[in-house]
Amino acid sequence: MDGKYHPNPVRRVEIPKENGKKRNYKEWGMGTMGNKRIGFIGLGAMGLPMARNLLKNDFEVHVAVHRNSEPVQELKGQGAVVHDSLEHVAAGCEVLISILPADMEMQNVLLDAKLLDALNGDAVLVEMTSGSPAMMKRVHDVYRNKGIRVLDAPVSGGTIGAEKGTLTVMAGGEADVLDDVRRVLEAMAGNIYLVGSVGAGKAIKAINQMLAGVHMVAAAEAFALAQKLEIDKDILKQVIGSSSGASWMFLNKVDAMSDRNFKPGFKQRLMKKDVQIAVDEGRNIPLPLAGLALQLYNMTEKDIGEKDFSAIAEYFVGDE
Ligand code: NDP
Repeated sequence: MDGKYHPNPVRRVEIPKENGKKRNYKEWGMGTMGNKRIGFIGLGAMGLPMARNLLKNDFEVHVAVHRNSEPVQELKGQGAVVHDSLEHVAAGCEVLISILPADMEMQNVLLDAKLLDALNGDAVLVEMTSGSPAMMKRVHDVYRNKGIRVLDAPVSGGTIGAEKGTLTVMAGGEADVLDDVRRVLEAMAGNIYLVGSVGAGKAIKAINQMLAGVHMVAAAEAFALAQKLEIDKDILKQVIGSSSGASWMFLNKVDAMSDRNFKPGFKQRLMKKDVQIAVDEGRNIPLPLAGLALQLYNMTEKDIGEKDFSAIAEYFVGDE
């Protein structure tokens, strides 16, 4: 590996639609890759609804309990095959999907010797965690040495996108690997972009998260200033919405800040992890805004780590 990304232009992969709706392969009676056997690891806020969508689209989904058995029981009721270990999930699967919290879990799970031994040489690992490019490349090196193909495929779109099957996939890898698993991704995603080689997906995701993390802090500061100046939140939202200071984050999160409704969503500790990835990857170049946002997320994690990351507003507004 030369450490560089392929110079190919970004490729947006069209999702087939029928009457304006995404094609459902089950309804069409065409499991185009047969009953493609999929092992799914990481059944959390994102993974559970993604696995549900695979089952709805007639894929054969294989899972195992980690700590929380509820998602596995639910998926079993919808037709998933339940195993007692991850190596049994991996054995015989054509596609292994992982969407785990962070680098540490990617390392512990994906580089586990038993899991690696269980995987068929012609399987594809579709790695969807928001991890670091460095960890993704490390996993890729190990899998490539075993002849197993890898697609780096982090997602954006949140839990709502995961439920609706409208996620955006930032795919890093070879075009033919993407083509081979495209139908699987289409069951979960509304947009699929081929952005470069393995590691480039994680890199773009980290850049997106750096922006989102900084924008949330800016939105929280704007909200706090509006409160101090006794400006009505709805008027502010309307006016900013058609002015140059608008951001998606401000317009979509100011209501939650005002209502103090911080049910996740996207947990603050995951955003902290993502901004940390951007800062680590960007070491040696100045990233002052990301650095400051990271400090704020670090300082507040103990109190709000399990809440939605919009709870950072509490730091600026306080308890008044
Ligand atoms: P959660 O914390 O909700 O879920 C993580 C899942 O991973 C849980 O099911 C957990 O199981 C499982 N897990 C952890 N360790 C292991 C292990 N060693 N073996 C098997 N399973 C394990 O996280 P999310 O689903 O919210 O996020 C997952 C990834 O997706 C993160 O990288 C996140 O940054 C990213 N992401 C999240 C979005 C969001 O809105 N939530 C949006 C876009 C990306 P158990 O609970 O049993 O421990």
